[in-house]
Amino acid sequence: MKKELKSICSIKENFELKNFNTYKLNCTCDYFVEPKNVQELKELFSFIKSNNIKYFVLGNGSNIILPVHYDGVVIYLKKLNNYEINDDYVYTECGVMINTLASKVTNMGYSGLDFATGIPGTVGGSVYMNAGCFGSDISNILISATIYDGNEIKELSNSDLEYEYRSSMLKNHKDYIVLSCKFKIEKSNLEELKALVLERTNKRVSSQDLSHPSAGSVFRNPEGLSAGKLIDDLGLKGFSVNDAMVSFKHANFIINNGDASGDDVIKLIEEIKTKVKKEYDIDLKLEQEIIKWVINNSLFIAIKKSVKLTYLFFLIVLISLVDNLTFLPSTTVGCKLTFCVFLVAFNEKGLFWALILLLFETFFAILLASSF
Ligand SMILES: Cc1cc2nc3c(=O)[nH]c(=O)nc-3n(C[C@H](O)[C@H](O)[C@H](O)COP(=O)(O)OP(=O)(O)OC[C@H]3O[C@@H](n4cnc5c(N)ncnc54)[C@H](O)[C@@H]3O)c2cc1C
Repeated sequence: MKKELKSICSIKENFELKNFNTYKLNCTCDYFVEPKNVQELKELFSFIKSNNIKYFVLGNGSNIILPVHYDGVVIYLKKLNNYEINDDYVYTECGVMINTLASKVTNMGYSGLDFATGIPGTVGGSVYMNAGCFGSDISNILISATIYDGNEIKELSNSDLEYEYRSSMLKNHKDYIVLSCKFKIEKSNLEELKALVLERTNKRVSSQDLSHPSAGSVFRNPEGLSAGKLIDDLGLKGFSVNDAMVSFKHANFIINNGDASGDDVIKLIEEIKTKVKKEYDIDLKLEQEIIKWVINNSLFIAIKKSVKLTYLFFLIVLISLVDNLTFLPSTTVGCKLTFCVFLVAFNEKGLFWALILLLFETFFAILLASSF
């Protein structure tokens, strides 16, 4: 798989994602791939899909909770960063930062994207989750989005995306990658726009905890209520699980005080949800997204990284040779079994290689038996 991915685009193995998520959680992934244009992304994604390879699409990592290790391919899209500002619409690729784009468009005297000047995510991530604030969101300005599903490119209209509060149909179509989109803008009064953006920036700076790593608001606001206020009223500011802590400045922000893991953040979220449910009988809904993983045990991950599978394979072959030649299978069978378990557990093709070993073992035993 590595060879094929490499032939398509830039790829890094066992890659550290700490600087690729705004929580600054320590996370590694099996493979990190960075297509530099749509053509590369298409080739890459159709290979990933047709081979059933585990993947997730990463924008700016400002709305996700990452595991200690992601056992798949991370597709990073920030190199798809072309855009074009026209008189009544903006065309933009998915990797463009929406806050940068919003500031540019607003400073040119166009309204529409002004609500997004403080949102530290990519266009793709924002279209996916219907990012918004100050009474507006992506659904108010999106004209259409171009998506790729590993097979064909489709043009989706605003209504096709079935937008809801902080949600779209893309959440149920994980195999749709947003390649680009068009946003509606209109000429407005520059001075008024600048004043509006300044007022909103001041509001953010005074109310949000922007000096610690976080992924913004953790929970959606329940109908007619503020999640932050509910949490604050329970006296949970400063409440923590290891280095994951409810911010003192904004109770709906969880911050990383240094070395928090995805597990710490999730445990803290669960504690908050339980307390809110108990006190108010309200089920808080998560606004951020937990990136799922199969195994999240640090010992397992450390072994997985250090075990060289080729060495393991040849080690088992060597032990087989010794035991067949010395007729002392009982002394080596335990070792072989242990190594086979390692092979199966730590490699996606482990079962295949274990079967090859079994065949080799049988063949070698028959060969030896017939020669004596
Ligand atoms: C300080 C701070 C303030 C914030 N304020 C706001 C706010 O006011 N309003 C708001 O809505 N959010 C806010 N956020 C959250 C976040 O910035 C937004 O949700 C943002 O739109 C996420 O974009 P991203 O590129 O970081 O997505 P990521 O976190 O990288 O990904 C989020 C999801 O989008 C998917 N995705 C990413 N790119 C694509 C693509 N091209 N195609 C398909 N799927 C894709 C990912 O697979 C993942 O499922 C804030 C975050 C922070 C840290």
